[in-house]
Parts: sequence; structure tokens; C-alpha cells
Amino acid sequence: MRFRNLTRRREIGANSYLLESGDDRIIIDAGMHPKYRGFQAMPDFGPIPPNTADAILVSHAHHDHIGCLPVVQRNQKNAAVIMTEPTGEVGSAMLHNSVNVMTSQREEQGVNEYPLFTHRELDGCKADWIYRELERPFQIPNTDLEATLFDAGHIIGSAGIMVRQNGSSLFYTGDVNFESQTITQAASFPEEDVDVLILETTRGTYERPAEYTRRSEKERLAQVIKETYEAGGSVLIPVFALGKTQETLVMLHELLEQELVPEMPIYMGGLSAKITVLYDHYASKIRRHYPNFRILEDIDMLVPPRRRRYDIPQQPRTIYALSSGMMTEGTTSNKFAWKFLDNPKNTIAFVGYTDSETPGARVRAAKEGDTIQLSDDLPPTKLQCRVESFDFSAHGTRESLAEYAERLQPKKIILVHGEEPAQAWFETRFKETLPETEVHLPGLHTPIDLW
Ligand SMILES: [Zn+2]
Ligand SMILES: [Zn+2]
Repeated sequence: MRFRNLTRRREIGANSYLLESGDDRIIIDAGMHPKYRGFQAMPDFGPIPPNTADAILVSHAHHDHIGCLPVVQRNQKNAAVIMTEPTGEVGSAMLHNSVNVMTSQREEQGVNEYPLFTHRELDGCKADWIYRELERPFQIPNTDLEATLFDAGHIIGSAGIMVRQNGSSLFYTGDVNFESQTITQAASFPEEDVDVLILETTRGTYERPAEYTRRSEKERLAQVIKETYEAGGSVLIPVFALGKTQETLVMLHELLEQELVPEMPIYMGGLSAKITVLYDHYASKIRRHYPNFRILEDIDMLVPPRRRRYDIPQQPRTIYALSSGMMTEGTTSNKFAWKFLDNPKNTIAFVGYTDSETPGARVRAAKEGDTIQLSDDLPPTKLQCRVESFDFSAHGTRESLAEYAERLQPKKIILVHGEEPAQAWFETRFKETLPETEVHLPGLHTPIDLW
């Protein structure tokens, strides 16, 4: 069994990995890079001739793991496409949105190859997806391999993927969280019999303060919201449409129930509403907290219609949970922030990961009075509002990931889904704690023999 990384750079980008054994070829994940455009945003599928893959396994519905799945399906017509049901249903909504985004990027930025697929082609692809349940082993069609999906605790439907062949085994964590979030329960991963571990390393450079507790972090957010309210300002929380939006809304509901924040109107954005419908649909059907809680029914919320999504009224004493989480150019949170961040009464509260070089990262790094360019088509604005960051990550801490690997004691570890300094932290740690284990930092297409 051989592994190859198809991700173009060692970072969190367009994730995709290849497993080869004899004639058997399995692709794990088929992501798109959030920052690049066109074919450069895709993984490099060079080593896989057309129509030779037997299966594509998808860990979860975030863009960096599912974004180019329809393109891969077009080139790999015999491949069985396997994922959990929530990943498929949420993934389909995400990919339809992606068709719209790519279409406007073609028009506005001249990316000629966009859209990489159409709504109709996507519907055809989805019809072939096979849904598998967590912790139920299944045969990968046309191969001698067996696979099992395990709850990864990251977002709705997210799964780690076990692949077994004649007594040898590989486990791909995908994006994982070993701590419970507000809705999503902590990962439920296998604790033994893993020969090869493919480990995400997103937070390898983040050192959590020793005094951190999720509860105190929530109370700190509540305090910031309260102070902003009392000053007559509003709070903008940039969130990803999938996962972070729903987690944040239920957390705000908890804070309101506990009377830690005053009652105030909450706005959320367009795609977020579509994904929230699916969170509500699966609320009592999957392993999660608040199994009977329906976000759209049980929280009073204002959802502007799609055609007015850039035109949300700015009013005092209001919470705006708007996507995207990194305030990427062209998104609702980016356009909204332009008129928002020059008001000293307001607060921007970051609750998740912002990639370097994104507008969100620029706002986070700026000081009061700095001039910020949010987008090429908007004049620069002066940052005068308060900016706060909170640790409610959907990814496990580096310590929790390292400890998991140390419990498993695999023969080999392959580090993926992280910037180089993040991977280096894990490599250094495992040299000490797992001296017998081979640790790989795979470059593009470099073959690694697994067993
Ligand atoms: Zn993810
Ligand atoms: Zn990811």
C-alpha cells in the first residue's frame, strides 16, 4: 500500500490524498483551495490516469475537502463515492453555492475556466453518492479493502476514515476535535490497531493559555457583547456558513438563557440559513448535543433574503453573525464590515480560524486607528471599533492531537493539513515521545510505502 499527497503545497489548502495497492486506487478527499483561483485551486491529480480510481472517500463537507469532487467524478467515472449522509446533503448545498461563487468570479475577475462544474452536473454527481453510517465497516467496491467511518467531532457529518487490508490498517483523522463544542460532540475515534496515522496539524503553532476553559471563554464573549450593547454599539461575528454559524447561534442562545447577555436582535446571512436548515433536519438523527433544538424555530433571528444579502441594515445594539469567517473579499461579512469598523462603539468578535493574508487576519492584526483595505473594490477605512478574538475552534488543540497519536503508537505518522511551522511542532514532539515511529511530512506526489 502506497500513499501520495495530491495537495500542491504543505499547508491547509486543497486537500486530497491517494492510496494505491496493486490495481486498487482510492482517493481520500477532493478539496479546493480557498485563496487561489482556477485550476491552481485544485489538487494535482497527476499520478491518477482517467477512470482508474475505484473509490473516493470524503471526510466532511468543508470546501477544502469536498470543493472539487464533481471534477474528480467527471474524470473518474468508475469510482464509488462514499461519505456520511449529512456530509452528502450539506456538501451538495455547499457545492451549489460554489457554482454561484465561481460564476460571479468568472464575470468579475475573468477566471475563464470557471465554473468548474454546473448545477446540473452536480445533481448528476450527487445521484451516485453512497452514504455510509458511522462505525459500520464496509467493503470498498472493486477492491480488497475494508473501510469504517468514525465521528470526527468537527462539524455535522464529519468523519475520520479507517482503511484496512489483510490485517494492516490506516486511519485518516480528517479535521478533528477531541473536545465538545456547543452542538457537536467530541470525536469518537478508534483507540487501537492503527499502523499508519494520517494526522491533521491545523493548530500546531497555537499554544492555548493554561487558564483556558471553554466556559470562561464564553463568559468573556458575553462580557464583550454586554459592554458593546451598553455603549450603544453592535457586534459583528464573522463566521463560516457551515459549522461555525450554527455553533455560534446556539452559544448565543445559551448566553441569553443564562442572562449573561441582553436580549438583542440577531442577523445571519444567506448560505448560513440553508445550511442551518440541514443542521435542524438532522438535529435528532445524529450524535450531537441539543438533539431536539431547532435553530431556525427556537431562536428569534433575522435572515435577509438572498438578493438583499449585501444590504443588511446597520442598526445599534444588534448581533450580526455573517459569513465568511475570514471576511474573504466579496462575502457578506467583508462588505458589511466596511461601514462597521470605523464606528468606535462597535465590536468585531472573531470566533474561529483566519488564514494569513485574508482580510479577517488583517483586521485581527491591526491596531486602533490603522487604515484597512478590506477589498480591492472598496476604499480603505479606518479601524476604530473594538476587535476581540476567542478560541472556539472546531479543530483539536495540538496537545490533544499529539496525545491521541501517542496513545495509538502507530508505526508511521503522516502529517497533513497544516502550515510548515505547525507540522514542525508535531515532528519535534514525536521525535521525543514516539522515537520508534516514522514521521513523514509528504511533499506533492512523493510516494510513501505504508506496508
Ligand atoms: Zn473542516
Ligand atoms: Zn480542513
